[in-house]
Amino acid sequence: MHIVGQKRTLRTSFFVGLIALLCLGESQALAKDVAIGVFAYQGERASTSDWNPLISYLNQALPEHHFRLENHNAESLRQAIAGEGVDLVITNPGHYITMEAEFGLSRIATLESVGVSAAKALGSVVLVRSDRADLKELSDLAGKRVAAVAPDAFGGYLLAAQEMLRNGVDPASDLKEIRFIGLPMNQIVEAVQQGKVDAGIVRACVPEQMVREKRLTPAEFRVLSPRQENQFPCALSTPLYPDWPLAVTRQTDPVLAKQVARALLSMPQAADGMGWTVPADYQPVHDLYRELRVGPYAYLREITPEGLVRRFWPWLLGALMTLVAWIIHTVRVEHLVHRRTAQLGDSLHAREQAESCMRESQEQMEHLSRLSVLGELSGNLAHELNQPLTTIGTYARTVLRRQNSGRLTPQAISEACTQIVNEAERAGGIVQRIRHFAKKRVAVRDPVDLVLIAKEARHLVVGMLAHPPEIHIDNRLSASFRVLADGPQIQQVLLNLLKNALDAGRNLRPERQGIRVIVEAVDNWVHLHVIDRGCGLEAPQLTHLFEPFFTTKPDGLGLGLPICKTIIEAHGGRLWAEPNADGPGMCFSFSLPHHDLPT
Ligand code: ADP
Repeated sequence: MHIVGQKRTLRTSFFVGLIALLCLGESQALAKDVAIGVFAYQGERASTSDWNPLISYLNQALPEHHFRLENHNAESLRQAIAGEGVDLVITNPGHYITMEAEFGLSRIATLESVGVSAAKALGSVVLVRSDRADLKELSDLAGKRVAAVAPDAFGGYLLAAQEMLRNGVDPASDLKEIRFIGLPMNQIVEAVQQGKVDAGIVRACVPEQMVREKRLTPAEFRVLSPRQENQFPCALSTPLYPDWPLAVTRQTDPVLAKQVARALLSMPQAADGMGWTVPADYQPVHDLYRELRVGPYAYLREITPEGLVRRFWPWLLGALMTLVAWIIHTVRVEHLVHRRTAQLGDSLHAREQAESCMRESQEQMEHLSRLSVLGELSGNLAHELNQPLTTIGTYARTVLRRQNSGRLTPQAISEACTQIVNEAERAGGIVQRIRHFAKKRVAVRDPVDLVLIAKEARHLVVGMLAHPPEIHIDNRLSASFRVLADGPQIQQVLLNLLKNALDAGRNLRPERQGIRVIVEAVDNWVHLHVIDRGCGLEAPQLTHLFEPFFTTKPDGLGLGLPICKTIIEAHGGRLWAEPNADGPGMCFSFSLPHHDLPT
């Protein structure tokens, strides 16, 4: 409070007030007592001298009350407020916000000096001796000795402490020593002068006052981190804060508070320039105390659960909300996953069912296709079976005839029976192959010899035809070649291709009826070609060849080739057709992946 010195001159006004008091006489004796508790930080005498003119003014302005001054230190003022011993309080901004937090004090006016804004009236200055070239900024104070008034002194320590913190020097840990010397502040200046400390913290305007009193020369000192504030008349190392407030307690009569506020605002400016104005904003003081974690914000230093909660509640709240959000999210995701899994399970089940249905119909179709091939070959089959049966009949009749004529020799019986057995076995073999081929079965994958399958298919076809054409198998594989396949299915494909090749050569000259089967290896594949010299196909027909129900035969179904294609593709291979490169007819080919096994 830089005006303290100036306030001393108010002492003269005291006498004016005293005379006025005496003149009030009898009526004044009935006036209501109003105690104004003052933080007398410089001692009772100085305080009384400073504030008596104000007391006199109030007694004069509001004669129905009797205002009296009560000087206190910080703690006794606190107790007076707690014990409702004071009606009005005048104290420094730091003490005020502490009491405001603790007892609900509320300011009704702020002190104002001529030429200085009430909101920016208090600051601190940090002095060093001018010969200390190493000290220029507050940040240079790390590891140095610093003198101040007291740990809770507003202008005499806290303002500078916060500024030091902002400059990267924590007064609690980074200084070599912080020495609290107390009041009056000129002791601090003297300690710096005598080199007892490296720097001293005093309220702004104290050095200027000492210069005026000739106790200091400006050349002796330098201000650390000097700063300019609009029209402020003294050197500064810190920002400026609001001046002292006059506050009322929770118990103060609101009418009295209103009267006092009105009287203060209309108080004529004293000779020393001191007056009162509307209450200033003390938020910067709150910010300062919060940053330093002192006064009402001392709990920020405590590491108790309550202190931590009070300090970090926004973070804790954020963390709690995040946790709740996370839990909700997790539960939701869990629920969604559960639902989705159930849906997937259902669709998987449906798919499995559809696949099994499809498999069944495919097997059914393949079976029908086999039966259809058999059906088409059945005419020839009857003829084929007829041959051994006729031979058997012939031999049996010959034996009977010879017996009747008495020419039956044991040798003739043995010869006839041998032929009958041979023919019966041949017929049985045909029937067995047909039964095996027509049997309904489930697809498997085994390493199989494609050439062997081709030979069996030829055997089946030839066995069922009266006049079979030549079917030549050209094996270009090494012996170790195998394919992983379902043998009977591949045999069915081959039978189909052979039957089509036979059909293509039907009614043509014998040399156009021969069929060639080539089996060869191409990279990792085994290719099988069925080549005929039959009627062949026109280009437009070729494009529809593998479409279901495409047929050029009057009694054809048009299902053989599509089924063959499905079978080969199910094995990972390909079925295709092209005109025979060596003449008339067609070449039907399929590929199967090669499966190499030691043979
Ligand atoms: P289908 O034999 O019942 O007609 P396929 O699907 O086996 O059914 O054959 C479809 C058609 O393809 C046949 O009708 C025929 O026109 C043609 N085709 C198949 N193989 C040959 C071939 N080797 N030469 C000429 N045409 C063929």
